[in-house]
Amino acid sequence: MSAREVHIYGGGMSGMIAAYSLVKEGYRVFVHEKEANFGGSSEYNPSTHVTPIDPVATSKYIGLNIENCFSPVSRPIPFYFNETKITIPHQGFYALERGTRPSSIDSLLYSKCIEAGVEFVFNSKLTAEVVERPKPSSIVACGLSPSVYKMLDIPCLKWEGWISRGNTRISNYAFTWWGDCVTEYGYFSSVKDYYFNLLFSTSPVGKNCLERYRKFLASAEGIEHENWKRTAGVVPLASPRNPRLFHKGFILCGTISGLMDPVFWFGISGAIVSGKIAAIAVMDPNRAELEFNRFTSGFSRSYLIKNRFWYKYFRPAANKVEKALNFLGPENVNILLRSMGSLALSGKIRQTIVPGFGPYNTEHSWTVISN
Ligand SMILES: Cc1cc2nc3c(=O)[nH]c(=O)nc-3n(C[C@H](O)[C@H](O)[C@H](O)COP(=O)(O)OP(=O)(O)OC[C@H]3O[C@@H](n4cnc5c(N)ncnc54)[C@H](O)[C@@H]3O)c2cc1C
Repeated sequence: MSAREVHIYGGGMSGMIAAYSLVKEGYRVFVHEKEANFGGSSEYNPSTHVTPIDPVATSKYIGLNIENCFSPVSRPIPFYFNETKITIPHQGFYALERGTRPSSIDSLLYSKCIEAGVEFVFNSKLTAEVVERPKPSSIVACGLSPSVYKMLDIPCLKWEGWISRGNTRISNYAFTWWGDCVTEYGYFSSVKDYYFNLLFSTSPVGKNCLERYRKFLASAEGIEHENWKRTAGVVPLASPRNPRLFHKGFILCGTISGLMDPVFWFGISGAIVSGKIAAIAVMDPNRAELEFNRFTSGFSRSYLIKNRFWYKYFRPAANKVEKALNFLGPENVNILLRSMGSLALSGKIRQTIVPGFGPYNTEHSWTVISN
């Protein structure tokens, strides 16, 4: 293998960003993707996602204009605690699409990679043999794929749930549902006439729980989906020390590197910047490590918030939270949330929980979720 040859395992979002950055630097780049086509894992995609992000600053950082892949969420985002609704400001939240439709981020990245000369090898998996003897500068960008975490012995948290997806007339909208039958939440997102709905949890999610969610969808949002299917995966949120750029002779890239928000599990903005960092790691490992540390500096704090506070006091008490909201009055809570948003803008509470470039705070690596 020539010194300027790089093998990337996983041709999803971050893998393609790393590939594009390296080919532009004169490397010969092979992307090994387990699926038969681009578009990410067929278990999870096509899909729509919502994330707080600054598309301009993110594009600038990765050296590729991906701004058009992001559509601003167009209305305040409802958070339902059972049936009680509060809303958070939607400014700074964007929806994007994964998969093979022309409007997806994968389509844009794939066409840019092909144009630049990246070589794709489809139906090609990272195997135990490759893991035994990695070629220098090999990158693993396999997302949330459980078998890869196992092969590489990366601590991970298992989750499971239900997915529904398809065409819709509602675009650029999102809401979440917090019920006591899941440790995480249910959420709907939509962009460009396509929707994705996911109910997920670290505990088993039975049909009863799905039925509750479906009843809620029909009564609160007037939405009825028939095509629910079971899904599962893992996330690198099993230890405050999860984030790692170099591991067992590989460079880790995307969510598997731990560049993910441990509280709400936003993974998009971290995975995007991580594609660029993995490319830097091939050329200048020390600089990449500094960048990686900068972008993961809030991880252990957010991890502790989730594990010491959230799971212990907040989640088991969805019904109590609902009662408290009703006692305070959902409208008063909305006003409070809006003013907390502006406080966060001016104060030091700027670095919150989502790695990547936030909508209001581009010089920091952790985003602000605020008004
Ligand atoms: C159902 C679901 C909903 C989500 N919703 C949101 C959301 O709304 N907002 C948000 O911010 N984040 C969300 N996330 C998280 C976010 O989607 C991920 O963190 C992010 O897309 C991961 O990007 P990546 O580049 O690391 O991996 P991916 O883009 O997932 O790419 C991984 C690639 O590796 C390939 N692969 C897997 N195993 C192998 C192997 N052995 N060999 C070769 N290739 C392999 C896969 O086929 C895939 O193409 C969600 C995740 C899931 C699963």
